[in-house]
Amino acid sequence: MKILIANRGEIARRVIRTAHRLGHQTVAVYGDPDANAPFVTEATTAVALGSASLDESYLSVDRVLAAAQNTAADAVHPGYGFLSENTAFANACIKAGLIWIGPNPQIIAQMGSKIEARSIAEAAGVPTIPGWSDSQDPAELAAAAARIGYPILVKASAGGGGKGIRIARDQAEFAGALSEASAEAERAFGDGSVIVERYIERPRHIEVQIIGDRHGAVIHLGTRECSVQRRYQKLLEEAPAPNLGADTRHGIERSAQLLAESVGYDSAGTVEFIVDDGTDEYFFLEMNTRLQVEHPVTEAITGLDLVELMIEVAAGAALPVDASALGFSGHAIEARILAEDPLADFAPQVGPIHQLHVPDDVRWDAAIEAGSVITPHYDSMIAKLIVHADTRDGAIARLSQALDELRIDGVVTTAQLHRWLVDQPEFRAAGLTTRFLDENAMASRADDLDEVHAAAAAAWVDATTETAATSPWFGSALSLTPHRSKRHIGLEDASGDVVEVVFDPEADGSPLPPRSVDVDGRRVAINLHGATYAFAVPPRSQRWAPSAATRTGSGAAITAPFPALVAEVHVQPGDEVEGDQVIVVIEAMKMLHSLRATGASTIAEVRVAPGDQVATGDVLITFETQTETVQ
Ligand code: ADP
Ligand code: ADP
Ligand code: MG
Repeated sequence: MKILIANRGEIARRVIRTAHRLGHQTVAVYGDPDANAPFVTEATTAVALGSASLDESYLSVDRVLAAAQNTAADAVHPGYGFLSENTAFANACIKAGLIWIGPNPQIIAQMGSKIEARSIAEAAGVPTIPGWSDSQDPAELAAAAARIGYPILVKASAGGGGKGIRIARDQAEFAGALSEASAEAERAFGDGSVIVERYIERPRHIEVQIIGDRHGAVIHLGTRECSVQRRYQKLLEEAPAPNLGADTRHGIERSAQLLAESVGYDSAGTVEFIVDDGTDEYFFLEMNTRLQVEHPVTEAITGLDLVELMIEVAAGAALPVDASALGFSGHAIEARILAEDPLADFAPQVGPIHQLHVPDDVRWDAAIEAGSVITPHYDSMIAKLIVHADTRDGAIARLSQALDELRIDGVVTTAQLHRWLVDQPEFRAAGLTTRFLDENAMASRADDLDEVHAAAAAAWVDATTETAATSPWFGSALSLTPHRSKRHIGLEDASGDVVEVVFDPEADGSPLPPRSVDVDGRRVAINLHGATYAFAVPPRSQRWAPSAATRTGSGAAITAPFPALVAEVHVQPGDEVEGDQVIVVIEAMKMLHSLRATGASTIAEVRVAPGDQVATGDVLITFETQTETVQ
């Protein structure tokens, strides 16, 4: 069989791997920026679809179908995202005589609407979150919100990937939340309709993997815990879900199975639930009718290959496993490695990966290799690191060690955040909710920045003085030797921001916290409070770049911090703005980023409009009066 993979990155490689193992041929399709990507070279054949624009490449039903026809493909695997939950695409594939490696398109349509999915779940006797979606009239939605009771979550019906979700804490916030969620949904999905739901204050995200065939068999493959999220998007997943009472777990698994049976589910899919951490009540959230990003953790504990099962059932075979033969072994954890800087509000990172070192004994599903270049055109998830051990503690230990060994040089990733996270008591106790990262971690980590810089500077000073070579001071409290004088040190983080740190041994005799450091040439990597931070020390001539130049909005202009598409422009020439006010919103890697003013000022020029593509450093807005400049 020849299988076309209508996707890119790590998931295209992952499907290719199984397809080749089974003796099938593969066809990769790609947008221009991916021309040299590993998945393109690994496939048996590759077809260029078009430009960087998604509409002309991965989202073009016509072009993907033409590629299938021109290469005489027999089947299509859609991966996740892109066209995977697009009913029209699934139908078009089937009409063209291709085997659709996914569920019956009618189920995709039913589950793709959160409004319809809710009623199917209710009919199947599966508990749903108290909510309402009978009309899209703002007044009626507001009345429903008042009946349900605040806080309320406004959620895009067509939603996915955490987009189009807003919280309203009280009635005063409702209108704003509704218009933002609806506008974001309209932009992302071409459908602005929403549901209003009770907001669960302490939610845990638990889901169940389903697999069915075309002869009526449906089984579940156990639970996954996906509560580690930022902005409603998952960052780390585990299987099985820890910390669930036996009754709750059975209830959730049974509900998932009932729902899947009620629609005649016939491929791999996932039923997502929210568990109220306070009461252990569980509610149906949505069903994803595709292979899920985090499927490897289920594969690790079941020993199954979900892509293999999808291919087999799509070709008409009966499911080769049944519930009684299914064994679950050990515990698996997946860390999604994103090219984003957790300390800079998860700003996307682009550029070349200079070096890559992946630890042994882990599963590494990656879009990249050493030498790959991360572009702003696609999702920021560059790899997944998956570990498996007999127990959860064993898996955590393995993950921390793997994250310590993992080296991705060139771009900042979330690996450091994951490393920090696995040491947190809430994570160790398997007790954190989906709000954990948004509420705690980022705030406290940002506060640590000065300390991080100081420690990195101290490490550098130490490594470059004669005494250091024989007596490293790190690992315990630092006592400074008197001969060291005040030093200015420029530190460049991987996003290219240069900060100047004054390291003054006279100023304060208090010891720096314990940490370990690794100085290699001009690079300093420090491990502080369980997180690893890497800095380059720029050559002297390049030091002291004023930080104002790299901070958006703090000088006389707002510049683009990375290549992006302008999504919104909130000002006009002559407008008076205040510090912290959002001036421009840009979009990169499927996420929106607000660029704000950092002081009171007046807008002089507006050089961009929504839809414009901008490069790093492009001036977007200029101010008339110079705002306060950070030096
Ligand atoms: P999972 O539950 O498998 O983790 P996610 O919701 O995180 O799935 O989405 C998987 C990928 O697909 C992510 O890269 C996400 O950004 C993308 N994605 C999900 N839904 C959509 C959608 N409707 N449109 C575009 N991209 C989507
Ligand atoms: P998407 O299609 O974007 O994945 P989901 O409905 O699966 O949307 O919700 C994404 C995330 O948003 C969930 O994992 C959870 O963290 C949060 N969420 C969704 N609904 C609620 C709710 N009613 N209360 C609290 N959190 C919610
Ligand atoms: Mg979801």
